[in-house]
Amino acid sequence: MISSADPIAASFEFVQLRECPLCGHPERSPAYQRRYQGMEIRWERCQACRFVFQNPKLSRESLNSIYRSSTYWNVQKMETQSGLRLGYSDYAKGEAYRLRQSQWRLKQIRRFAPEGARWLDVACATGFFVKTLVDAGFQSWGVELSSQMAQFGKERYGVDIEACDFDQYVPPGGPVQALSIWGADSNFYDPVQTYQHANRMLSDDGWLFFNFWDFDHPIRPLLGEFKIGLNGLYQLNRKNIHLLLAKSGFRAELVKMEWSFASLEAILSLTGRFLPLQWLGGLGLARAIFQVPTFSGFLVAARKVHSV
Ligand SMILES: [Zn+2]
Repeated sequence: MISSADPIAASFEFVQLRECPLCGHPERSPAYQRRYQGMEIRWERCQACRFVFQNPKLSRESLNSIYRSSTYWNVQKMETQSGLRLGYSDYAKGEAYRLRQSQWRLKQIRRFAPEGARWLDVACATGFFVKTLVDAGFQSWGVELSSQMAQFGKERYGVDIEACDFDQYVPPGGPVQALSIWGADSNFYDPVQTYQHANRMLSDDGWLFFNFWDFDHPIRPLLGEFKIGLNGLYQLNRKNIHLLLAKSGFRAELVKMEWSFASLEAILSLTGRFLPLQWLGGLGLARAIFQVPTFSGFLVAARKVHSV
């Protein structure tokens, strides 16, 4: 089980970017900034493709140290307003709605993948989607950077999870037919590199499934501090997501708004609204699961169209 909080490395390292990591354009403007542990963290917007990215951005080692820390998965009290939130509030509590979410997602995309396909779930956390796939007859396993999460999932669901960095991972037994990446749309060190790595791992007719949040959607302000975190390295929108796919050898066949299963507790916590959360603290209502339209959250099924 996840242990009590351990300290995240006090000193992070950053890398300065000279151009947009998505399209290579050099001109950008300030997008937003936050303070974290006394550091000023800035995000910029590319003037060509509108991609928003942290700059200077966390080094790969610093980013990985966040995901390996149990503080990330088990933060009870986070800085808000002028400060930054980081990670989840006791992640394990949400397993029930994450399983429901997994079943909904599989239903949307199942027609694309061959029956019983070899299917790798990337950044799988506790493996709730892997479990959903195995239950549906797929040969599925997951990779997860945090060995604590992997261990928790293996014990809870009896699924196969490798604790490692996907960017360095080579699947045993040759190409896979499907890859899924849920809830990590702002969190890779270099998304183009990661999606290209995914392309090389897939068979010629392979599929990549993932979700993302459209940062430029009109309702985005309602989401508050959601994904505005130290480890939210970049923000995509409904246009430049296709640029990311084209650069990594994919074409979207389905882009669909997601319905989300969640508890009120999880929504208030993820959007940084802690005051109502405290009011609801003692009520069963806070933990009740319901399904809501995300409006700005999208599910994507992308076909591999060429090798990169
Ligand atoms: Zn750009």
